[in-house]
Amino acid sequence: MHTDLNIESIRNDFPILNEEVNGKSLVYFDNAATTQKPRAVLDAISGYYEHSNANIHRGIHHLAEKATASFEASRRRIQEFLNAREHEEIIFTYGTTDGINLVAQAYGRAFLKEGDEIIISTMEHHSNIVPWQMLCEEKSCVLKVVPISDAGELLMDEYEKMLSERTKFVSIVHVSNALGTINPVAEIIEKAHKVGAKVLIDGAQASSHITVDVQALDCDFYAFSLHKLYGPTGMGVLYGKRELLDAMPPYRGGGEMIKEVTFEKTTYNELPYKFEAGTPNIADVVAAKNALDYVAGLGKDAIGTYEHDLLLYGTEAMQSIEGLRIVGTAKEKIGVISFLMEGIHHQDIGVLLDQQGIAIRTGHHCTQPMMRRFGIPGTSRASFAVYNTTEEIDRLVQGLHKVKKMLG
Ligand code: PLP
Repeated sequence: MHTDLNIESIRNDFPILNEEVNGKSLVYFDNAATTQKPRAVLDAISGYYEHSNANIHRGIHHLAEKATASFEASRRRIQEFLNAREHEEIIFTYGTTDGINLVAQAYGRAFLKEGDEIIISTMEHHSNIVPWQMLCEEKSCVLKVVPISDAGELLMDEYEKMLSERTKFVSIVHVSNALGTINPVAEIIEKAHKVGAKVLIDGAQASSHITVDVQALDCDFYAFSLHKLYGPTGMGVLYGKRELLDAMPPYRGGGEMIKEVTFEKTTYNELPYKFEAGTPNIADVVAAKNALDYVAGLGKDAIGTYEHDLLLYGTEAMQSIEGLRIVGTAKEKIGVISFLMEGIHHQDIGVLLDQQGIAIRTGHHCTQPMMRRFGIPGTSRASFAVYNTTEEIDRLVQGLHKVKKMLG
């Protein structure tokens, strides 16, 4: 398979890929859950603690200033990554889940009222279902769900039929974690705006595979997690348009998010600090910049093309296994292959592959309503990253043949 990327050298950037599992060299195909981290990110985390550690913003000593500068440099790097207009539109969160909860609570509580409609889709991760259900319960809003086809694509006609002047918010996943489907988010956003609704895009799976330009998309909010983008766990980003973030009340109260506190009244800090109460995950925010620099160094388009080639190779190879069915066959897909094997439980597949050193994910992938739509309890899922190879896919296919022999 041709690529301008030097995959062998990329693999050397990820120390964990040298691990052995059950006496076999590790094959890591659980990238949609979290990607592995390159040495540049690992070094940035330890380097921060070794040379810069201090609490940010409030200190006037050298280390505090150094830590603050690195923290804010990361914010500007993320602004650039998303092509946001202003760095104040970048809010650090604990991850995608945290970002969606922030919007549901801060925007939803302030601006949605009884009878207002919120649209999500059948293929949402629980993180983009439950926060809206909680809001609907509290505010008596109505949750509407866009259905999907058997291939795992949104039924856009149904979406259009759902839109009306009652629609106040649309929250849709950019790329499905369980199916790999890439949704037509630009069209979704444009149609929602025509009826005056605001739109959040759950970018958890998209940000590592697709170039995201929030100004071109014109989304109102965009949430993602750095740990799926070769960065650290426990940190994520919420982008929001300034006028909306300005109008929203704070989500959490505490240090950093205030201007002045008296027992009678508290005034709130400016953006982005208004939404960043308490000491943030400084080391990981700092290292996030290294993750983005690493990806930029390889080239997002080159990564996307290579992963797409892995998807085509994997799809063809896996379809050759008798009794294997791929769930999620959308025309536009990232490198995710969810599958079923006739007569074999997905959990057994996961356990037997693990014995061969191959890590995949099994279960409902936090998309229980979608599994119900397909009439299945779960799937096995292999998801690819830039360090994966066709040889590893061959090992997966051999592994699945073994599973079939043992249990099929
Ligand atoms: N949305 C999607 C599509 C995801 O795949 C995930 C994680 O798997 C999330 C949201 C939640 O991300 P996090 O657990 O990092 O908050």
